[in-house]
Amino acid sequence: MKSIRLREGKERSLLRRHPWVFEGSIAKGAADAGETVRVEAADGRFLAWGAYSPSSKIRVRAWSFDPAERIDASFFQRRIARALALRTRLAIASNGQRLVHGEADGLPGLIVDRYAEVLSAQFLSVGAERWREVIADALMAASGAARLYERSDASVRGLEGLAPRSGWLRGDGASEVEIDEHGRRLTLDVASGHKTGYYLDQRDNRALLARLVRQLGCQRVLNCFAYTGGFSIAALAGGAREVFSVDSSAPALARASAHVPLNGFDPALHQAVVADVNAHLRSALAGGEKFDAIVLDPPKFAPTAAHAERAARAYKDINRLALMLLRPGGLLLTFSCSGGISPDLFRKIVAGAALDAPADAAILHRLEGAPDHPTTMTFPEGEYLKGLALLKV
Ligand code: SAH
Repeated sequence: MKSIRLREGKERSLLRRHPWVFEGSIAKGAADAGETVRVEAADGRFLAWGAYSPSSKIRVRAWSFDPAERIDASFFQRRIARALALRTRLAIASNGQRLVHGEADGLPGLIVDRYAEVLSAQFLSVGAERWREVIADALMAASGAARLYERSDASVRGLEGLAPRSGWLRGDGASEVEIDEHGRRLTLDVASGHKTGYYLDQRDNRALLARLVRQLGCQRVLNCFAYTGGFSIAALAGGAREVFSVDSSAPALARASAHVPLNGFDPALHQAVVADVNAHLRSALAGGEKFDAIVLDPPKFAPTAAHAERAARAYKDINRLALMLLRPGGLLLTFSCSGGISPDLFRKIVAGAALDAPADAAILHRLEGAPDHPTTMTFPEGEYLKGLALLKV
């Protein structure tokens, strides 16, 4: 077993059970990609077992802080069993669930979503990559799923020196799947959809939209960055009579349109608009349009805090336009999935947008990702999705 010795004082974050060791913290030691190493303080004291990553700035990701634990097949079986047990206890109202959420489930670099009988997984670090076969076997055995598709095609793999890879890892067949989310039917394709196929993190916020649309009597709803229309179907379920799904992806919107009759709604109630959201908001404003509810769920504008300033301007702009397009009493569900934007900063950005609109708005709810995407005490970086439900005054 190789050892990685940290510089003096650099043991603090591991002692607080934060799972990352940055390259600048290491005094000496090296290992192969994904190899399990013993991380020790400057005085030689044990800190963690971790996976070494020669090419990443995050040089070690900790598997365990227990000196007695062995990193072997049974370790991965235990961690996966623990992650699945948590989901069982959460009583999630869907057969689409995030089973493993990386660091928050003690499995850095591993993302696994379950879509009915199909698992869709991302191996995003050399540590996860090294144990890929063991992890695949453990996932199949613990979940009882029939098939496992690999979507290791995210760009972050490049930082780990890993090439993209996707395809069936266990079983094969059609990559098209249907899930049930809060009683609504949604289809996705694990091979060609975004990320692992779908955005499960917004599940409960979609259900909230359905409730609020019903409660407030919203008729005309604009769903921006709609992807496959999860929020659009929720709006229809809430009783909306005119729903617009805007996205730059035509295939995603084709699926959104197909979801309307699949859920028993009249296709005439829904319009798919292939457009840039920014341009669409401006032309709607120029055309004097008004909406009773608007959803803004943009992609990650700020992957890290370094991009926060430019991202803040982009968030502010779309929120300002949305607030201008809302009728008084209208509902805005606005989100940021940027790790570099804190919930507090996001609230300030939206407040700035309201000031510029000008509009005032009451915060009905502070929103976050569904609980199968947990944020843990030791890994605040895992907190990425935040949002606000606002009522325009
Ligand atoms: N709200 C969706 C998830 C949105 S993900 C859901 O509930 O499932 C972000 C979406 O924004 C993607 O579908 C992407 O195609 C789209 N997108 C990214 N940039 C865009 C732009 N400038 N204009 C329109 N859509 C954009």
